[in-house]
Amino acid sequence: MEKVLIANRGEIALRIMRSCRDMGIGTVAVYSTADRDLKHVRLADEAVCIGPAPSKDSYLNIPAIISAAEITDVTAIHPGYGFLSENADFAERVETSGFKFIGPSPSVIRMMGDKVSAIREMRAAGVPCVPGSNGPLDDDPARNMQIANEIGYPIIIKAAGGGGGRGMRVVRSNEELIESIKLTQAEAGAAFNNEIVYMEKFLEKPRHVEFQVLADEFGNAIHLGERDCSMQRRHQKVVEEAPAPGITEEQRATIGARCVAACKRLGYRGAGTFEFLYENGEFYFIEMNTRVQVEHPVTEMITGVDIVKEQIRVANGNRLSLTQEDVHIKGHAFECRINAEDPDTFMPSPGLVEQFHAPGGLGVRVDSHIYNGYRVPPYYDSMIGKLIVHGNTRASALARMQGALSEAFIVGIKTNIPLLAKICDDENFADGGTDIHYLEKKLGLS
Ligand code: ADP
Repeated sequence: MEKVLIANRGEIALRIMRSCRDMGIGTVAVYSTADRDLKHVRLADEAVCIGPAPSKDSYLNIPAIISAAEITDVTAIHPGYGFLSENADFAERVETSGFKFIGPSPSVIRMMGDKVSAIREMRAAGVPCVPGSNGPLDDDPARNMQIANEIGYPIIIKAAGGGGGRGMRVVRSNEELIESIKLTQAEAGAAFNNEIVYMEKFLEKPRHVEFQVLADEFGNAIHLGERDCSMQRRHQKVVEEAPAPGITEEQRATIGARCVAACKRLGYRGAGTFEFLYENGEFYFIEMNTRVQVEHPVTEMITGVDIVKEQIRVANGNRLSLTQEDVHIKGHAFECRINAEDPDTFMPSPGLVEQFHAPGGLGVRVDSHIYNGYRVPPYYDSMIGKLIVHGNTRASALARMQGALSEAFIVGIKTNIPLLAKICDDENFADGGTDIHYLEKKLGLS
């Protein structure tokens, strides 16, 4: 592979650039007019402006990105996360324009993007799923009531095309059921242009545990163990860790093997994540992400595997550089997502970074694009970086995170660092295994 166009911004664009550089691959940055000063734009070999600030005119502008790839004559396009990363039409355009897409094939992205077809595939591969309707709901009220009663209340109605924690409704009795199905269908139609909904058992106090996989075009697939991302606010992950507290080696091997089997069945290529809810010792698949995730570094820290590098290798038609036997989990890692936002009101806080001193030391990693004098634009996601730490044990890693947070120094914009420190000082978090509602309860939000 000679040259990669990075169709993204911020910390992940910088992250991808670093792996390309390690591999001796040239890089092309694309940026909006609001992003001329992004760190990776300055460091990349070439940079192309693809449009004005709004994402729909730049980072979501497929013709502009393809044109940039053509004029710079790249080999491949890396979509990062968010933006076009799970857009099957984009992946298809990339390939029909003669570039490699650093991700799975368009048909696999499409299949996993539809939750009903994704669940069907997972069941067929032996991946444990949430008990549910096993397919779309039709408009027969008696039939739907029967399904709900077989599953047992509470249940959740979910949109097949849903994403970002939207298009879901919890139902606790027969009386609410029919109206709730109609409402969710109407909302799903408006939001995702797809009225199809399905039903699942609603788990009251689950944890979010997800498995990282890698696969190549030669039928090799491996898993890199799991992450716990239960510390969430409004379905957004705030702190992640790997491995997940309390998960046994046997559970890891069993569920990991199922995920690997699913990759082989799908003909999966690249990096992917199987997301599960975990409750009372059982795993329940909820969805697959067909891209690199924000929290991938915690897995890199405990396995030593460069996930982006493997993505690039396999997109270039090479084999994975390791087998399952080569994967060894060592120690424990945490990641805190640092956002430019008010720590109490969560209002975004864009603006000038007057001073920034990054934490450091053994086992501390900072993935961030900010620097002294950088102006955080108001147009995009408020995440300005990630603080990742590794330690030999969970307790030592957590202590290291507390120290690193106390060292982080950002003047000019408000950040959520005080909130992150509060989470890392929390007794129950220190014990491990808090559920997905824990943070909102702690904050008095639910
Ligand atoms: P999205 O694609 O919108 O992120 P997911 O299917 O991943 O949708 O679900 C998002 C979140 O909704 C989950 O992390 C969990 O908090 C909640 N959720 C989804 N399905 C269930 C369920 N069956 N029981 C309980 N909570 C659920």
